[in-house]
Amino acid sequence: MSVTAASPQARVAEVFRSWQGEGLLLGKRQVFVRLAGCEVGCRFCDTEWAFDTPARVAVPNRAGEHLSNPLSVAQVVDLVNAADPLDAPGGLASVTLTGGEPTEQLELLRALCPALTPRELMLETAGLNGPALHALAPWLRWIALDIKLPTASGLADALQRHAEAFANGLPAGPEIFVKLVVDGDTPVSELQAAADLLRARLPSAPIFLQPVSPLGGSPALPAAHLDRLAEPLLAAGLDLRVVPQVHKVLKVR
Ligand code: SF4
Repeated sequence: MSVTAASPQARVAEVFRSWQGEGLLLGKRQVFVRLAGCEVGCRFCDTEWAFDTPARVAVPNRAGEHLSNPLSVAQVVDLVNAADPLDAPGGLASVTLTGGEPTEQLELLRALCPALTPRELMLETAGLNGPALHALAPWLRWIALDIKLPTASGLADALQRHAEAFANGLPAGPEIFVKLVVDGDTPVSELQAAADLLRARLPSAPIFLQPVSPLGGSPALPAAHLDRLAEPLLAAGLDLRVVPQVHKVLKVR
């Protein structure tokens, strides 16, 4: 692909290779392209540091080398290939496009996704921009939808916003799976509302119920509460799995 002077520029927080710690690709080796910026506004966020664009991005596996933001599409591809060389054993790692909220850089992703071919791509997103999901679908192998529950995210109208984003359906093609983060304060009524939405829009998608990390001193979610939260999803016939964040156990990024 030719990259012209008019090509969109990327605001990148970091690029690295690690092991996927959540969702359908749990345990797979992947390259993570974390784009900077997010205007979603969740109350708890473990990537707040990525809201602002850093001046420089470290080049993986080249100690002391950096590139300055914003980056060209070709530079982002170079960072991915530095993280996961083209001749790496086991073949090309797939790429997770994450953030922040990556769809806030839609024009960049429209250019970057085809440039990363033939790597398989996963988009990690809150999914609040329905047209962006459709626009990017042709290049995506997977979409990880982080559906926000009001209590855990602090976004009182989160499920309404998701319903509006999905009003025109979700794209066919990419395999879509869903993450629902819950904590000890999450009421069953929010899972019931999520179950209604998912049964209508994604009846066969794998659903990952993710208890907020029990590590670092905070207590694990009591099993009885987890069972109550799971009940509406199971009753809706959804393909439910309960999986915590494994990268925190592995102590990798
Ligand atoms: S959408 Fe993700 S990155 Fe943005 S505030 Fe919420 S948790 Fe943080």
